[in-house]
Amino acid sequence: MTLHVLVLGSAAGGGFPQWNCGCQNCQGVRLGRNGLRARTQDSVAVSADGESWFLLNASPDVLRQTQAHRPLWPRSLRDSPIRGVILTNGDLDHVLGLLSLRESQPLTLYATERVLEGLRENAALRTLERFEGQLRRHVLALGKSGELCSADGTASGLFVTAEAVPGKPPLHLEGLYEPSAEDNVALRIRTARSGSLVYASAIADAGAARPLFEGAAALLLDGTFWSEEELPELGVRMGPARSMAHQPVGGPGGSLEALRDLSVPRRIFTHVNNTNPLLNETSAQRALALAAGWEVATDGLVLRLE
Ligand SMILES: [Zn+2]
Repeated sequence: MTLHVLVLGSAAGGGFPQWNCGCQNCQGVRLGRNGLRARTQDSVAVSADGESWFLLNASPDVLRQTQAHRPLWPRSLRDSPIRGVILTNGDLDHVLGLLSLRESQPLTLYATERVLEGLRENAALRTLERFEGQLRRHVLALGKSGELCSADGTASGLFVTAEAVPGKPPLHLEGLYEPSAEDNVALRIRTARSGSLVYASAIADAGAARPLFEGAAALLLDGTFWSEEELPELGVRMGPARSMAHQPVGGPGGSLEALRDLSVPRRIFTHVNNTNPLLNETSAQRALALAAGWEVATDGLVLRLE
């Protein structure tokens, strides 16, 4: 069975353009300049049959994203082809969308025990538990493959493995918990017969995680920042890329260098911050990435992994 992959959102938190950002990229995309395309916040939909879908992360843009793609539309009164959500971490730009999926639709939620624990604190999420069986939580144990199921227990034909990758706890939970290997994971997803997708949209050290990527048919990798000092250099009061647990793409020690000669047929940067010059199709940085065999994800990108 083919693995269907649909990139719903390819921007980092804030989206592109970001509502309160006047950087060159954001102003350019607002003005319709050539070489810049708007993007919603990071999320991917996967399916084994093209009928039932699971979301990798629930972005604050989830309603726009489901509206934009016909396979995610209801097929009858009160229906959704979306069976569940798999979280890679507890960042708000990955979980806020859960609150938008609250119209009494049964869903399964997969995350590590640590990420589920962080959500338990939040009373607003009780809106997903208005009746017995509305939200079924499943713990993702690190390194263990399991088949995704709908809330009623129907098997999906999709197998997922969560692997710990260097990251950090979500900003709003910092200081409440000790950092854990379960704070941030990459997902390996496949059907019983397909090649696998590795989705690692937040990673502080892609070189260290390289063995997880080898053998994949496609890799969606953290492309948040081009350079370590991208935000401070623009005058944004934020730290360097690695202080936010994002390895920059470019420069010495960047992910492009760390993953040189990686033998994955489709290597794609996603979760791209609005300040990143990779977003500009005419930039020198974009040309460098393309020359190294990488792609930059756009919303609506479709992969079919056999
Ligand atoms: Zn911007």
